[in-house]
Amino acid sequence: MAPSSIGRQAVVVGAGMGGLAAAGAIAPHFEQVVVVERDVLPAEPVDRPGIPQGPHPHGLLVSGQRALSELFPGFEQDLVRAGAVSLIAGLDVRMERPGYDPFPQRDLGWRTYALSRPAIERAVRRRVESLANVTLRQRCRVRELLATPEGATVTSVRLENGAGSTETLEADLVVDASGRGALTLALLKATGRPLPEETAIGVDFGYATCVFAIPDDAPTDWKGVMTFGGPGPQGARGGLLFPLEGNRWMAGLGGRHGDQPPGDTEGYLAFMRGLRTPTMYNAIKHAKRLGSVARYGAPESVRRHFERLETFPRGLLPIADAICRFNPVYGQGMSVAALEACLLRRLLETPTDKGDPIATLAHVFFAEMPALIETPWSVATFDFVHPETRGERPADFETRLAFSMALTRLAAEDPAVHRLTAEVQSLLKPRSVYRDDPALMKRVMAIMAQG
Ligand SMILES: Cc1cc2nc3c(=O)[nH]c(=O)nc-3n(C[C@H](O)[C@H](O)[C@H](O)COP(=O)(O)OP(=O)(O)OC[C@H]3O[C@@H](n4cnc5c(N)ncnc54)[C@H](O)[C@@H]3O)c2cc1C
Repeated sequence: MAPSSIGRQAVVVGAGMGGLAAAGAIAPHFEQVVVVERDVLPAEPVDRPGIPQGPHPHGLLVSGQRALSELFPGFEQDLVRAGAVSLIAGLDVRMERPGYDPFPQRDLGWRTYALSRPAIERAVRRRVESLANVTLRQRCRVRELLATPEGATVTSVRLENGAGSTETLEADLVVDASGRGALTLALLKATGRPLPEETAIGVDFGYATCVFAIPDDAPTDWKGVMTFGGPGPQGARGGLLFPLEGNRWMAGLGGRHGDQPPGDTEGYLAFMRGLRTPTMYNAIKHAKRLGSVARYGAPESVRRHFERLETFPRGLLPIADAICRFNPVYGQGMSVAALEACLLRRLLETPTDKGDPIATLAHVFFAEMPALIETPWSVATFDFVHPETRGERPADFETRLAFSMALTRLAAEDPAVHRLTAEVQSLLKPRSVYRDDPALMKRVMAIMAQG
């Protein structure tokens, strides 16, 4: 074994965003990393069955972009080469929210890159493919994680390969980046171990998305638009017009509970006309439609509290959506996956005096999860603004809402506050930065006191 290695072979289940980022994080620490993916991995940036969310808008937050650049130096240039549209944060996307149509557009000091989900994933995959000790095995579906009696240590994965044969791959570490985490839960169940407690927020969110060619007479004062709902019967409706590689717009519509966007073109366009402002419809009404309307249903945000488990199998680590899945409307999942992979890398780089880093890895990783997930999860709890949302509404929700509305008002007036709120929403800073700034708190409280 090479001196820096903590194990001979690691297996990553799933070549989605979490699995690819994790493979980059652990590659320096294992002789061999095998990424096992059930799909055929297309050479071109096109959708595939294992990523049914692929046809919908996928914004990569600046925190995710930086995390991926930490794992794969120069990654932003890869996005540019893949045809990404560069967006100046705060300036290039017109934000329309009740009371602010639009919210003041200002350069907040960083850039993000807009491109399709398959193109983002392919850019990361190319980096992973270039790592000498990483192998990607496509058309291999992992059926089961195998462990020693009572699930003390995960030893291997059993998979079905493209030829239909069963294989067993030995592993010192298995990273479950399969999205749903079903393999991890099945192993815990099969070995009589407790399952992690879950917190869920039932949102019944529906997406409908269609791609258009950007017309020659497209507006020049924005590159994208986000239209949020407001009061009234269609208040939960929202829309996002997002630029993609290849001079295209992706137009995503969202609604909740009984008011979800339909999948037929007529219904989709009618739903768009029902948005709070006509900006999005006016932009696409004469644009050429490229393909049909894709739909996706996201019933809930779910957070699994692995950190509360007293024991966990050695050599197993769930990551990304397998730990926490957010209502996609907040655009956080890929970035949280990349931030988790950076955490994993830091933990593996930190020498431990316990002798067996794999034995402690999951516990240390899970212990860091509440801090990492706190801010994105608190963003997701804003779904409770809709009365039909299911789950445990935070006791201080009304205060949080009033705080957030006051903060939004300040952000509209003050570029420094605008920048700070965008940094929190982009997961560059934790939301505790507000509390830690007494002068800001005083200003927010003064607005809240006005009612
Ligand atoms: C409609 C929608 C829109 C979204 N928009 C955004 C957004 O704007 N910004 C953002 O950051 N996030 C967004 N997300 C969230 C984002 O897609 C996920 O958070 C992210 O992809 C999670 O990565 P993952 O690796 O956990 O899962 P995935 O990326 O879904 O990858 C899981 C992989 O595992 C493979 N797999 C599963 N089971 C097996 C098995 N048994 N054997 C082998 N392979 C297996 C699958 O084929 C797949 O390739 C959105 C999600 C949805 C649903």
